[in-house]
Amino acid sequence: MIRAADPGPIPESRSRALLSWKGWTSMARSQATEDLNLYNIVSRQFDRAAVSLRFPEHVLQQIKLCNNIYEFQFPVRVGKRFEIFTGWRAEHSHHRKPLKGGIRYSEHVDADEVKALSSLMTFKCALVNVPFGGSKGAVRINPYTTPPEVLQRVTRRYTAELCWKNFIGPGINVPAPDMGTGEREMAWIADTYDGLNHGGLDNFACVTGKPISQGGIVGRTEATGRGVVYGVREALSYPSDVRQFGLTPGLEGKSIVIQGYGNVGSHAAHIFAKEEGAKIVAIGEWNGYLVNHDGIDLDALDAYRTEAGTMLDFPGAQTVRDDPIKVLELECDVLVPAALQNQITLANVDRLKCKVVAEAANGPTTPDAEEKLNKRNVLVIPDIYLNSGGVTVSYFEWTKNLGHIRFGRMAKRLSGHKESQMISAVERVTGATFSPEERRSLGRGADEIDIVRSGLEGTMVDAYREIRDTVKRKRQVRDLRTAAYTVAINKVASSYEKLGIFP
Ligand code: GLU
Repeated sequence: MIRAADPGPIPESRSRALLSWKGWTSMARSQATEDLNLYNIVSRQFDRAAVSLRFPEHVLQQIKLCNNIYEFQFPVRVGKRFEIFTGWRAEHSHHRKPLKGGIRYSEHVDADEVKALSSLMTFKCALVNVPFGGSKGAVRINPYTTPPEVLQRVTRRYTAELCWKNFIGPGINVPAPDMGTGEREMAWIADTYDGLNHGGLDNFACVTGKPISQGGIVGRTEATGRGVVYGVREALSYPSDVRQFGLTPGLEGKSIVIQGYGNVGSHAAHIFAKEEGAKIVAIGEWNGYLVNHDGIDLDALDAYRTEAGTMLDFPGAQTVRDDPIKVLELECDVLVPAALQNQITLANVDRLKCKVVAEAANGPTTPDAEEKLNKRNVLVIPDIYLNSGGVTVSYFEWTKNLGHIRFGRMAKRLSGHKESQMISAVERVTGATFSPEERRSLGRGADEIDIVRSGLEGTMVDAYREIRDTVKRKRQVRDLRTAAYTVAINKVASSYEKLGIFP
């Protein structure tokens, strides 16, 4: 086990005080015996995998602990006065450069959460062979009640603070969206960085998740949700595995409950339903949830939500308002927590009725709750694998920015032409004729979106196979999370060899 130099657990009272996020955390807070500090949770998950690895303890410590964290205060004008905001950027590991990770805007964020999230970034990048070290940033602010002009000033000043201390740059540290931020904030970051680094050819590679018009890549917004679907589909594709969990292979017809209908949850829901034929039977938000056992019509829901400003009282489903976290307890095949950390805890785990927990959010299941799920034979697909689609496509965006060329630009016409020739040859040899529609779709060549999606799909499939192999091969590793950490720690450790810290 790892001990020395570890700052040790954060006192319970402090860790619980940081949790409140509207209705979702009421259950978690009622739990008196469980440590809900995300930093401690990630440490426990790491230790569980580390015990079966043969690296010296100091190597494991170096990999486990967060290298540095910059915490700073900065003033921003709000109306006629100035307010002081707190920001962070944690750098967990420099074994690969640049470092990578999102920026979270939340009223409840704190240094431990940012450090924990930065470690998750290291392991998720290693797992999917994205060559970055892990980082994460945050500002303590409520992004939903703060006016856009204040958010813009805060984002620009936050970026300037990072610039002044060398915590951002295409080869140094590359932020991206996380909870409470999106393309708009990334555009402000890119613009501010560009203004402070005059003439830098690669300036726009200083941040990912940008709008397409500002150097973004198609498919980045949907990427985390799409990666979740590819990951679950892969996990449910092995007949002998899924039978153990009381399921049949494949996603077709499976009932799915989604907690959180933000960027990740909403894209995952649409892709599960439209591309995989699954049924979204419930969707939870912070103020209530919707249930329809025949499947929720997502297009109708989106149209209703745009009009009404809320998904509650959508006529195509039953609305339940009290205790929104109870959405997790509905019967289903796959439960997708796509909201916050600490949603599945000792307080509610015994009431879960799903066969699979697919962790789209970071840290939604506590270690104690996971132990119970494992005992009950519920498959937990861990966050560091399942939500790595976002950073995977961020990697594609970063390479696109450094290459200064859109994917597919050089080869699209050529491959389209070759496909058309192939279709004509098939027609000639077989005597069959393709419809004009088939000809158009078969002979169009790959666009950027096709390339991005196929790169993401390949990444998710390969990583799952590596994790699954580890479970099969290593006797001490019994669950996917421990296997995922094992794979990731091995990869990070091998890149530390060059430091000469191995005996
Ligand atoms: N915030 C996302 C995550 O937690 C994306 C990070 C990135 O694209 O750098 O994985």
